[in-house]
Order: sequence, then C-alpha cells, then structure tokens
Amino acid sequence: MSPGSAGDTQRRIAAILIVDDAPANLELLRKSMSEQGYQVYVALSGERALAIAQRAQPDLILLDVMMPDMDGFETCCKLKQNPLTRRIPVIFMSARTDTDDVVAGFDIGAVDYIGKPLRMPEVYARVRAQLQIRNNSDTQEEQAERLRTIVNHMAEGLLIIEADGRIQYTNPACDQYLGYHENELAGRSIAELLSPMVTQEYLDYFAMHAAHPDTAHKHGTREVAIRHRDGNLLSMDLTLTPMYLRQPLFIGLLHDITHHKQSEDALQRAAYLDPLTKIANRRHFDSFLEKEWQRAVRNGCVLSLVLLDVDHFKLYNDSQGHPAGDTCLQQVAQTIASHACRTGDLAARYGGEEFVMLFSETEAANAFELAETIRTHIEALQLPHPRSPTSAWITVSIGVATIRPHQLDDREALFVAADRAMYQAKEGGRNQVRATSSGSNAWETVKALILR
Ligand code: GH3
Ligand code: MG
Ligand code: MG
Repeated sequence: MSPGSAGDTQRRIAAILIVDDAPANLELLRKSMSEQGYQVYVALSGERALAIAQRAQPDLILLDVMMPDMDGFETCCKLKQNPLTRRIPVIFMSARTDTDDVVAGFDIGAVDYIGKPLRMPEVYARVRAQLQIRNNSDTQEEQAERLRTIVNHMAEGLLIIEADGRIQYTNPACDQYLGYHENELAGRSIAELLSPMVTQEYLDYFAMHAAHPDTAHKHGTREVAIRHRDGNLLSMDLTLTPMYLRQPLFIGLLHDITHHKQSEDALQRAAYLDPLTKIANRRHFDSFLEKEWQRAVRNGCVLSLVLLDVDHFKLYNDSQGHPAGDTCLQQVAQTIASHACRTGDLAARYGGEEFVMLFSETEAANAFELAETIRTHIEALQLPHPRSPTSAWITVSIGVATIRPHQLDDREALFVAADRAMYQAKEGGRNQVRATSSGSNAWETVKALILR
C-alpha cells in the first residue's frame, strides 16, 4: 500500500504542504515526502504558506515553528481563522520541545508536534496517522451531508415522532405539505395533525411498542386525513416505522395522495353524472329512488315523481342546429336542478330532452306547485324557439305523480302515472303541468295497466 494513497486506493494522492525557512531542511523534507508518494508543496515563509494553503488545499501541513517575520504559531492561527484553510490539519516541527511549547502548539489547533532533529520514519508514521484520521472524518461528514441532502430534498414528508406523540423533527417536504414553517411543528403533538381517533390508535401503538419492543412490528402504511395548517384536510399515505436511537422513536413518511383521490372522486362523479348537462344521470336517479322508496315504505311517507319533457324540441334542433339544442338542454337542466333543494330531492336527465325529479315527503299539492314554479321558471328563461306552435320561448310539459308506497307497490306504476300525466299536459296544449295522485281514478287505471 502506498502511503501517498493515505490508506485508500480509491482516493487521490494526498497533498502535503511543507513550511520551513531553512532551504536545506525544506529540500530534504520535500525529497523524502515525494519518495513516500505524496504530492508536495513547499513554502519558505508563513506568508507563502497561507497563500499556497488557500489555493492548493493540501491534506496536511508540516509547519516549522521558528521562522522570521511570521512564525509557525502565528501562521497556524491565521490558517485556523480562515474558513478556507481552517480544516487542514497542521503538524508542528520544532527544536523547541519544552512541554509549554508543545502544549501551546496543540492549544492553537495543531494536531501533532514533532521534535527536531526529525527522525524521518517517525515523521512518516505521524503523517500517515493524521491523514488516516482526516480521511475518516471526511467520510463521516460526507455521509452526514449526503443524508441531510436526501432528507431535505426527498418528495416524501418525513416526521420523527417520540413515544408520547410529540414531533421531534419534520423535513422541508413535510413542512411544505402541511403549510408550516421550518421547525414550527417540532415539539407539537401529532394530535394537532390527525383526528382524535387516529391519534389514539397511534399512541396505543407507540405504547405497545415501548412495552414490547421485540415483538412489535412495523405499523405499515395507511391512508389518513391530515390537517393542513389552514384547517383543510389532506389525504395522505402515512408509513410508520419504529426505530431505537437512544430512545424509542417513530419515523413517519408522508406521501401525498390528494391527486389520486381527486381522480377517484372525478371517476365516481362521472359514473353518476350526465356528461352533457352535468346533473344526475338515469342510473343515479334509479338508485336514489330505490333508497327513498324504501325509506318512504318504512316511514309511511309520500313520494312525488315529476317528469318534464321539452316541447317541440325536434323543431328546435331542426331550426337552431344540434349544438344550440345541446346548450338549450344544459340551461333547462340547470334550471330544473336548481329546484331540487332538499336532501330527499333529486333532478336527473332521464334521456334525450326528458328530465325527471323526485321529491321525497312531498304531498301531491306541493309537488304540483313545485312543478308549476319550474315550468314558469323555464319559460322565463326566454330561450327563443321561433318555430314552436306553443310559445315564442322554450317550454316544458310536466307530469306529476304522487304515491304513499307500500312494500308490494311497483315503482313502475309511479313512472307510468307521471308519464300519463305528462302526456295529458302535451295533449292539453303543452307548457303546462298535469298530475295523477294515488287513490284517484286515473291512478287505478295505471295500476290496472301495470298488473295486466
Ligand atoms: P314534444 O313537444 O311532443 O315533446 O315534441 P319533441 O320534438 O320535443 O319530441 P320528440 O321526441 O319527437 O323529439 C325529441 C328531440 O330531442 C329529438 C332529438 O333529436 C332531440 N334530442 C334528444 N337528445 C338530444 C341531445 O342530447 N341534444 C340535442 N341537441 N337534441 C336532442
Ligand atoms: Mg320526448
Ligand atoms: Mg319533447
């Protein structure tokens, strides 16, 4: 192993700066150290030494103590004051080997002190030892620096949590996710970030882990709602790993899944919405009706179903064009949906230019009134329909049916009843509301039709 490689063949050749005011000494040392395989710089004065050290960044400085002008101690002090040369180890060489001198040398920051006359094998050994130490501490610092860089730049939020739930550390990504300043979360409890229930679960896990560290296992990853500093809840994956660093600690990794959630929500919405009008689609309406139907059967409540059909819409399309027809349907849909206000109400596009509404716990008279309001509202939009025989504007015909459903009643009957009412509205001249309510003759006719 070449000493010049300082014990590590992967590293570059070590460079040594030798400082001595006696040219003969300097030349002798230069030659010996070169033979040892080091790259060697030389300086005849303290001033030169400072300049070379700053520029060449040697791995070690062998520094004579007794020199005219600036002596070795003063040179060493200057090296230690300059951030660019502070970390370069200095070994003094001196004929003054009194304890006071040696101690003074160490006090101003030297790492070793060699007596003159020099015994070269001892010099080599001391130089090797110092280079080895410097090498190791460099490696440690590099590793720490690398870890710091990773933690500071990783996309995941990182939290170090103590066993009592107190946050010890958060990395920049975590602060950014949650809207906190640097160090602001340190010292706070995870209870400020998580719901009381989830907090308790984690605290129980921490306690269990503290009691039985060997049997406890990783907590794994789970989806949590975590509170942003502004109060909003974010969806995050939280992975928790126990660790023992002088005390039990838990490393939390936060992974933002809000965007997954958003696309999930979007998909779910798409499955329930009519793409053109953005109000509920038929599928959503049918499952909504089913739930409300069951609820009405249980509670003995009434349900009103309202069917709405745009008048002379084929003519509208033919005269205004299909795209204008689409826009018209969107406006009509929004108007209709704006009248489904309560939790038991829903408006949907049932197909083409036909819409449907459910009003739970709504008696026939009220449903009729609502339908009449909607009819007026749509007419008041004044969407021009020049070729309509009914009106100058877009209008709708509406059929209303009301039922107090029993277990054995057929949902179909309600639709047929509303449909018949709407048909009557069309027959009666359009732009009007007609109703069929259960118990009426018309309703009995409907039932008879269904049962046939
Ligand atoms: P009525 O007053 O008797 O209801 O007459 P109508 O013309 O409205 O009835 P019809 O059922 O004959 O015509 C419905 C028209 O609605 C025909 C179809 O082209 C149009 N339509 C259905 N869906 C859409 C759509 O999504 N966009 C557009 N622009 N038109 C549609
Ligand atoms: Mg129609
Ligand atoms: Mg129509």
